[in-house]
Amino acid sequence: MAGGSDRLCDKSKEVNEGMQGSGGIYRPGKFRWKRRRLKRLARNMLTIVLLAIAGLAITWRIRIRPPHLPGGAARQAAITQDPPGIIFHASMTPSRAGGKPIDAAWIERIHAEDHPAWATTFEGKVYHIGYHYVILPDGTVQKGRPDRCIGCHAPHFNTWLGICLIGCFDPAIGHHWKPSRPTVAQIAALISLCERLMSQYHIPPERILRHWDTKKTWCPGRRFPYRAIMARLRQYGAAHPETSLRAQPAVIGNYPAEAATAGEGR
Ligand SMILES: [Zn+2]
Repeated sequence: MAGGSDRLCDKSKEVNEGMQGSGGIYRPGKFRWKRRRLKRLARNMLTIVLLAIAGLAITWRIRIRPPHLPGGAARQAAITQDPPGIIFHASMTPSRAGGKPIDAAWIERIHAEDHPAWATTFEGKVYHIGYHYVILPDGTVQKGRPDRCIGCHAPHFNTWLGICLIGCFDPAIGHHWKPSRPTVAQIAALISLCERLMSQYHIPPERILRHWDTKKTWCPGRRFPYRAIMARLRQYGAAHPETSLRAQPAVIGNYPAEAATAGEGR
C-alpha cells in the first residue's frame, strides 16, 4: 500500500496537492484511484438499471396500455348494427360544478379520470363518456358516443343507447342538488329524442328501460317520471309501425342475433 504512508502526511501536503493538482508533489494514492473507478462502475450500473427500467416501462405500455390510447383504452367498439333499445340514466349531480355547467364534455372528462377502462375507440376516436346522449336541464341534447359505438353505461345493455339527464332525481342522493326532478324542457327533449330513435332503429316501447330495471341502482332516481314518459312513447309506438319492425325476422336477419338480443337475459 504505497499510499498508506502518504496518507500519514501532514495537512500541508494535502493542501499542496489540492493547489498543484495530481501532477504536484503529492500524488493520489491507489485509494483515490480505486474510488474513482468504483464511482465510474456505480454510474455505469445505475445507467444500466435505468435503461432496464425504461425498457420494461416501454414494453408494459406497448403490451398493456397502447401509448396512443389514454388510460388503457384498448376496448374497441365492434357494434355496427342498429342499437336494440334505450336505457334512461341520470347524472345524479347538480347541474353545475365549480361554476361550470355539468354537460357531455364534463362527463367525458370525469369518466376519463375516474374510469379509464371505459374508454372505447370507435372509428379512430377515443370516447370516455359512457352515454350516447346527454340532456341538459334547458332541454339541450348533446352527443356522447356515436349511436353504433358500444356504450359503457349499463352492464349487459351496452349495445343499447344510454341517455343521461343531468340532475339528481332521487331522495337518497344529494337532496339539495338541482334540478331534483327532470325539467319540463328535459322531458320534452327526451321524448322527442326517443321518438326519433324508435323510428330510426325500430325500437319498440318495451325496449326502453330505466337503468334500475337492469341492475341494483337508484339511477335514474325515484323522481324520474318513467310511467308518464312511457305512456307518451307507447302512444308514439302505436302510431308508428316502424318502431316494432325489429320483431320481424326478415328485418333483423342482417345482423347477428347475439347482438340484437344482447342484454335481454336479465
Ligand atoms: Zn344510470
